[in-house]
Amino acid sequence: MKYSNELLLEILTALPDRVFVLTESGRYAMTIGGTDTRYYHSGALLLDLTLHDVMPANKADWFLDEIRQALQDQRPRIILYSLGDSEVKGLEGEPGPREELWFEGSIRPLATLLDGERTVIWVARNITESRRLRLKLEKQAELDQLTGTYNRHKLMELLRGQLSEFHRYKHPFSLILLDVDHFKTFNDRFGHLIGDQVLRCVAEHCAAGLREHDMLCRFGGEEFVIVLPHTCGSEAIPLAERLRDRIEQLDLTASAGTPCTLSISAGISTCRSNDLEVEALLQRADEALYQAKGLGRNRVVAYL
Ligand code: GH3
Ligand code: MG
Ligand code: MG
Repeated sequence: MKYSNELLLEILTALPDRVFVLTESGRYAMTIGGTDTRYYHSGALLLDLTLHDVMPANKADWFLDEIRQALQDQRPRIILYSLGDSEVKGLEGEPGPREELWFEGSIRPLATLLDGERTVIWVARNITESRRLRLKLEKQAELDQLTGTYNRHKLMELLRGQLSEFHRYKHPFSLILLDVDHFKTFNDRFGHLIGDQVLRCVAEHCAAGLREHDMLCRFGGEEFVIVLPHTCGSEAIPLAERLRDRIEQLDLTASAGTPCTLSISAGISTCRSNDLEVEALLQRADEALYQAKGLGRNRVVAYL
């Protein structure tokens, strides 16, 4: 079946993604499709300009490298890149999105020469929204739903990262395993929902007492782990004591409806050169915590 040029042009113009034909010197030889100004700016003003005419040199260099690589390999390439409207000259005042945009660029070599130059077709798909959603879901997958702290899965990842840094660069790190004392009794007395509220409150107060790079994670139930990068055991003790004190001072009257406080017990462990798995550190912190409970609770024990 033969198609008229008018029909082909209409189809190309209706393509939802922006399509460029770019030469190997980086000249915009043709632009079509992607006419929805919610996702794309007008491409018309780019015609016959070069990548270096319209965008920062480092980005133009990178794009040009990709074009040349696709031509050299005679194979399609796919790249991800961001492009804000302020990065492209001439878009000021033009209709189109104002935020930083993310694109998936599919680059394919064409057989036809234009003005003696080799060319590629570059299809730019705006993936800003799906990327934002993906990042949001990835973030959510790291967090504990009740307290908003990191969850256990993320904790294990963080600990493995710290342990490998310790073995490679000798950066020490420690962890605090803390457990709310007699929390079952608290739940029995005030109900699970108020218990939940108080767990959030404990997490908030712990977080507020930490340093910038310390990481608070919910280990499970009423137990939290704090990962302390670049911290040896003796430095972790005053930190844990400060948290213990903060929680002891925490007035829960507003949540419980009657004057009421709680305490925590904490076990500290610190990395050792023969720790090959993070479970060994968790195990020592658990033993230290067990000892803190045995000694009467509301206290800190360190296994250094
Ligand atoms: P100990 O001082 O020995 O730690 O005593 P405990 O009562 O805190 O310890 P136990 O392990 O016997 O009980 C933990 C309680 O924590 C029991 C459980 O109902 C409560 N808990 C665990 N997860 C949650 C939660 O998500 N919300 C609420 N409200 N309670 C929880
Ligand atoms: Mg417990
Ligand atoms: Mg407990």
